[in-house]
Amino acid sequence: MTDNAELTASFTELYGTAPEGIWAAPGRVNLIGEYTDFNGGFVMPLALPHHARAAVARRTDGQLRLHSTDVPGGVVSLRVDELTPHSGHGWAAYPAGVVWALREAGHAVTGADIQLTSTVPVGAGLSSSAALEVVTALALNDLFELGLSAPEVAVLGQRAENDFVGVPCGIMDQMASACCTEGHALYLDTRDLTQRQVPFDLAAHGLQLLVVDTRVKHALGDGAYAERRAGCEAGARALGIDMLRDLPFEDLGTALETLAAAGEDESVVRYVRHVVSDNHRVEQIIALLDAGDVRAAGPVLNEGHASLRDDLRVSCQELDLVVSAANAAGALGARMTGGGFGGSAIVLVEEATADTVAKAVTEAFSVAGHATPGVFPAVPSAGGRRVAPAA
Ligand code: ADP
Ligand code: MG
Repeated sequence: MTDNAELTASFTELYGTAPEGIWAAPGRVNLIGEYTDFNGGFVMPLALPHHARAAVARRTDGQLRLHSTDVPGGVVSLRVDELTPHSGHGWAAYPAGVVWALREAGHAVTGADIQLTSTVPVGAGLSSSAALEVVTALALNDLFELGLSAPEVAVLGQRAENDFVGVPCGIMDQMASACCTEGHALYLDTRDLTQRQVPFDLAAHGLQLLVVDTRVKHALGDGAYAERRAGCEAGARALGIDMLRDLPFEDLGTALETLAAAGEDESVVRYVRHVVSDNHRVEQIIALLDAGDVRAAGPVLNEGHASLRDDLRVSCQELDLVVSAANAAGALGARMTGGGFGGSAIVLVEEATADTVAKAVTEAFSVAGHATPGVFPAVPSAGGRRVAPAA
C-alpha cells in the first residue's frame, strides 16, 4: 500500500463507505539510553521514515471493525463495550487496546472502522507496535474531538500495550512515535515526560545513521527483560532510592562498592552500572549534538554497546558482529538498539563510506553464516500526524 489514494480506495471497497481521514505514525530507533526508561531515566529516540497509516471512519453503533493490509485474514469485528484485556485477538489487540484505553479513561468512543497499513519492519526492534497504537489513538483523538496532547496519546498507547495486549514496555516507543519531529532526536526524561527536540541533521554534517536489522529474534528476550527490570529495582531498593535515575553518575563508583559490600548479586551490580552510565551517555551525546560535534558521538555509541553486551548482557552474536564489522570498516561508532537479543543495531558513518560499511557488515554476516541483514539509513523524520485530507 503506497499512497493515501490507494488506502482510501481500499478502505471504501472494504467497508462500503469512505474514510473520514488518514493518519500516520512512525517507527523509531533509539540513539542512546537503553533500558533506562523503566528506571525513570533519559532516552533519545528519533522517528524513522517508516510509518503506519490508518484510514478511519467513526461509527455510532458500538462496533469496532479492524483490518490490516499487511496481515492475511479478513476484518476483525469487535464491540467496544465488550473489549477485555488479555483476550487475544492477535495483531488486532493493538488498535483494540487503544479503544479500550480511551474508554477506560472516560472518552466516549462509540465505534470505528479502521484499516491499517505499515512500512515499519515487524519485530525488528523498530516499534511497529507503537506505530499502530499511536496512529490509532491520533485518529480517534481527532475524529471524536477528545483534545488529547501528543504525550497523552503516547501514554494511552502504552496503557493499551501494557494492560490490554500484556507487553510490559516503557514509554519511549509511543512518545517517539507521537512526539518526534523531522531533523531532530527527542531528548526525553521518562520520569516526568519533559522533552526537548535536539537538532540531529545528519545530512548537514555529511553523516548517515544506518539501521542494520539482523532479522533474528532470540527467544531469550521476554524473560530477560523482566529479569533485568527486577534486578534494577532490587539495586535501587538496596541503595535506598526510588529509581536508578536518582543516582548521579559521579556517585556510581561508591554505589557499586556499597552494593557489593551489602552482598547484592553481582548481576545487580552490573545492571546498575549499565543504567547509570547509559543515562550519563545520553547527556554526553546531547552536549555533543548541541555543540555541533556529531562525529564525537561515535565513541559514545561504542561504549554504550559494550555496556549492553558486558554489563546488561542483552546483546547477541549478530548484534556484536554488526558493531565489530562496522567499526573495522571505518564507522564512527555503532551499538545495538532496542531490547536486544536480535532486532537492530545503529551505525554512525561518514556519508562517503556508508556503502563500504554496509557492504562490510553484509559480507561479515555471510561469512558467519547468518541471514542477510536489512540495512537502511535512519533519516530523522516527523512524528504522528493527520496526513489526509490535507489541513
Ligand atoms: P516491534 O519491535 O516491531 O514493535 P512487537 O512484537 O512489539 O515488535 O510488535 C509486533 C506486532 O505488532 C506484530 O506481531 C503484530 O501483531 C503487530 N503489528 C505490527 N505491524 C503491523 C501491521 N502492519 N499490521 C498488523 N499488525 C501489525
Ligand atoms: Mg513493540
